[in-house]
Amino acid sequence: MDKTEAQITRRNLLYGVAGAAVLLGLGGATKYAFGTTPLLRPPGGQDEERFLAACIKCDRCRSACPYDAISVASVNDGLLNARTPRMTFRIGRYSASKKPTEGVFAGEGKGFCNFCGLCIKNCPTEALRPFDPETERIGRAVIEEGLCIAFHNEGGCRKCVDECPFGAITLNAQSRPVIDEALCNGCGVCENICPSNTYRSYQGSNRRGVNVEATDERRPQ
Ligand code: SF4
Ligand code: SF4
Ligand code: SF4
Repeated sequence: MDKTEAQITRRNLLYGVAGAAVLLGLGGATKYAFGTTPLLRPPGGQDEERFLAACIKCDRCRSACPYDAISVASVNDGLLNARTPRMTFRIGRYSASKKPTEGVFAGEGKGFCNFCGLCIKNCPTEALRPFDPETERIGRAVIEEGLCIAFHNEGGCRKCVDECPFGAITLNAQSRPVIDEALCNGCGVCENICPSNTYRSYQGSNRRGVNVEATDERRPQ
């Protein structure tokens, strides 16, 4: 290798390192601004870009929710997300046995979305738009095989299958739950009632055997 080639190679290396540093810096800035995991928004707030542009962080949607299904994001969720509403399915307990306070399916208690629309009605900026639980979704339920009891003990649990108000979960031939994405609208009942990991959150994870996750994909019809 002559001197010129060595200089070019060294220059390329420096450009490479500098480029990687800039990318890492940008990645870090993006993580700082938007967090690492997309947030599950209340009904009608699924277009994240439009939602963030319109939400004034007034907290009215959270105050209006009769099921305590909305909480407030913190700076740990990204600086731009701080104080915006996010769904939570951990406060209280769903019960199918009683008439609903508000909403579209029979179910009382707290910690799930019954699509009553009060958050949308109380939003002053239309950050939350009209939402149809028959065709749209807040997010999608995803089975976490490592935590779902039925994956470790055949026939050991079928609670989400029995309780899903929309018939979106069935058992396969191995008695393991399977989500039908065409029927799931992300109501959160399954996550709320899943018994897996309920008492172990202090061990570092608050994931359950089924969790509702944000998605920008439309619900398959
Ligand atoms: S639709 Fe009703 S139950 Fe669902 S998040 Fe909004 S206020 Fe809560
Ligand atoms: S009511 Fe609307 S503007 Fe206010 S925090 Fe909720 S989504 Fe944002
Ligand atoms: S699978 Fe879970 S989130 Fe989806 S509709 Fe059924 S209970 Fe609701």
